Amino acid sequence: MVKETIRVYARVKPLGRRQQAGSYSVDDEEDLLSSLEITVPRDLADGFVNNKRETYKFKFQKIFDQEAKQDVIFDSIAKPVAECVLAGYNGTIFAYGQTGSGKTFTITGGAERYSDRGIIPRTLSYIFDQLQKDSSKVYTTHVSYLEIYNECGYDLLDPRHEASRLEDLPKVTIMEDSDQNIHLKNLSLQQATNEEEALNLLFLGDTNRMIAETPMNQASSRSHCIFTVHVSSKEPGSATVRRSKLHLVDLAGSERVAKTGVGGHLLTEAKYINLSLHYLEQVIIALAEKNRSHIPYRNSMMTSVLRDSLGGNCMTAMIATLSIDKRNIDESISTCRFAQRVALIKNEAVLNEEIDPRLMIVQLKKEIQDLKDELELVTGKQRTSELSQEELLQLDELIETFLKDNDPDSTLDVGADMRKIKYCFIHMKQLMNHPTTSDKKLLSQNISEEEDTNKESGEELEKLKDLLQQRDNEINILVNMLKKEKKKAQDALFQLNASSACSTVLEQSLPINLEDRQSPSSCSSLKGAKDFSSSVHRLPLLSRQTGGKMSLGCQEAFEVFKRDHADSITIEDNKQLLKQRFAEIKCLGEKLNEVRSKINCLKGEITQRHIQRAALAVSSPSEELNMFDPVEEKLRMQIEEEKKSYKTMFNRFKGLKVEIEHLQLLMEKVKMKMQKDFEVWWSEEAKNLQEKPEMVTSPNTVTVYPQFIKSLQHLSTNSFSEITRVSPNEDPAGKNNSITFSNPTLKTRTPQSSSTSIPLTGDSQADADILAFMKARQRILQRKGLENK
Ligand code: ADP
Ligand code: MG
Repeated sequence: MVKETIRVYARVKPLGRRQQAGSYSVDDEEDLLSSLEITVPRDLADGFVNNKRETYKFKFQKIFDQEAKQDVIFDSIAKPVAECVLAGYNGTIFAYGQTGSGKTFTITGGAERYSDRGIIPRTLSYIFDQLQKDSSKVYTTHVSYLEIYNECGYDLLDPRHEASRLEDLPKVTIMEDSDQNIHLKNLSLQQATNEEEALNLLFLGDTNRMIAETPMNQASSRSHCIFTVHVSSKEPGSATVRRSKLHLVDLAGSERVAKTGVGGHLLTEAKYINLSLHYLEQVIIALAEKNRSHIPYRNSMMTSVLRDSLGGNCMTAMIATLSIDKRNIDESISTCRFAQRVALIKNEAVLNEEIDPRLMIVQLKKEIQDLKDELELVTGKQRTSELSQEELLQLDELIETFLKDNDPDSTLDVGADMRKIKYCFIHMKQLMNHPTTSDKKLLSQNISEEEDTNKESGEELEKLKDLLQQRDNEINILVNMLKKEKKKAQDALFQLNASSACSTVLEQSLPINLEDRQSPSSCSSLKGAKDFSSSVHRLPLLSRQTGGKMSLGCQEAFEVFKRDHADSITIEDNKQLLKQRFAEIKCLGEKLNEVRSKINCLKGEITQRHIQRAALAVSSPSEELNMFDPVEEKLRMQIEEEKKSYKTMFNRFKGLKVEIEHLQLLMEKVKMKMQKDFEVWWSEEAKNLQEKPEMVTSPNTVTVYPQFIKSLQHLSTNSFSEITRVSPNEDPAGKNNSITFSNPTLKTRTPQSSSTSIPLTGDSQADADILAFMKARQRILQRKGLENK
């Protein structure tokens, strides 16, 4: 058991270009706790006597200032926890801080650069690396990704992958069993056999998280996300299994409601966050107090899920993320205050070892079979567990004869077979319980006689009896275990109320282990999930949401939007980098092949040399030929050299592969984000259009086509009432297939200078889209123009 307090770290986010730094200083002492001092100037502008404290000092395990890089964060905070998890202890790392302070950046990573990847991808990489190195154990790894929003849990690794709203994802609920263990119903555990699979799952979860978020519900800042890696290990042949899990938690923003200044729907959300973080705080206060017997874990879903991580069986680290610019100093101070309380909590991590009853049964079965075989060898007879009908009849006869026999020396000999001996006893007991008077007499007389006879039985019989007894005991143990298992399974089934096949259980105390879950029904769901995770998850967002259809106008608008989007630079950069990496990996692959064939050549030379020397030894034997061959030695050394360079290159090759994979995922993420932004922008523009229908200038102004509304509706949930537009078909001349429109933000119409003329396609829906797009574009240009001025 390892007893230690939660390790609390602070990370200061780099200041933005326009931000003004608050006054703070970091005192970083080697081997000691670091301290952070924040100074708040007395605010004279408040116009009243201000008794606020000026300087606040907080202690942390370590403070990572603005320039700290992701690899350093991983090495100092996450690596030690990951090591514990590999050794069989539970671990948790959670980030706490206001929205925008860098929680997601720290836990998951930035979406731009490979070097920005956060704790989750680095930890996955580290864990799989270590597992690969350790061949002494058999490891199984699963991951789960849970999002908690407004006290509801959602499974982010939903294999159906069609969710466009959080509510479409499977709802996860909490169950507590009679031993007060928490079970999460409907949270899928997906097996990941290597880093790539695990990263794909992470990417899938992040994508689902992003898609589910709309401007109205900024779920990422208002929800808690828990990515969990479950590791189980077992030595080959052993029945002992170690199970551990690592929670990597991105908490909701800790800012207070008053500051968010929102009403209505958003306020409900803010209140909820506040509630759940408030309950987290309550738990932490209760834990820090001595002699508190009740800890209010059950008040919120998040504290229930993280119960073990807080004051329980877990190695826990917290990262307080701080925005140190002037405007956020207050929030940073309250984050630090929270951190100081967390630092007082003591956890007791224990090695999560358990005997796997299934493996135990297998072992005992084998032992029973061995004993049976041995018995068969000694008696020369095969044993089944039941006596045959014939044998039973025979025994009945024997007993009857024995009981009727008046000879005091008569014996009841059934041989060294425990089953028969037992049967005789049972039979006699029955006779005793329902006796005829004469039988009774006879019986008691005979029993004492039998006892005497038994005493005389030989040594071998005793030995075999022992053996049989042993076997019976084992059978009893097995039967009991099976009963218990069955009961537990039934209980669980009852509690989960016939939960669906993919419902899984997070807590290690779960009686059904991972392998058990691979029952035919759940197995198929896992398999399905895996198949999909390697293929479907790369479907682009928009085509997914619009069923693969995007009208021509919409496509064109998207092309322009893409070009002007801020992220297009990132995509371009990453494209270049990818190109570079592809070229590099290709070149490396070629080199690797070269080295491999070189090694093969050298090996061939050695073989050739052997043959030559063997031939020489036959034709003209000499002492020299049996001796050490310097040429061969040289060849061997060359091979060693080549092997070394092969290994170095191969490692680089592997590294590059991971980097490329990651870059591809990053790019897809950015692309999806862009499509999402486009979608939002597009629907906003459509809404504006609806509100200002007078913007079109044309000789003819007609009511909008219904297709136009439809085409916009498939991109937005906003409904349209009436929009006016020009219909090319109603051009009186019938030739002027173009539309002209003025800048909508200008009240005075100056058609020639600020209007654009574009050709129409004749396809009514496409034309409507083009029209909408051109207007929107015009408006942006106008806005840009104003900004530039
Ligand atoms: P949170 O999850 O706490 O709301 P984010 O992680 O989304 O905050 O960070 C907000 C923004 O700041 C993101 O654009 C992120 O890339 C950037 N950011 C945060 N921390 C850092 C850092 N240490 N270095 C560089 N950029 C950062
Ligand atoms: Mg975030």
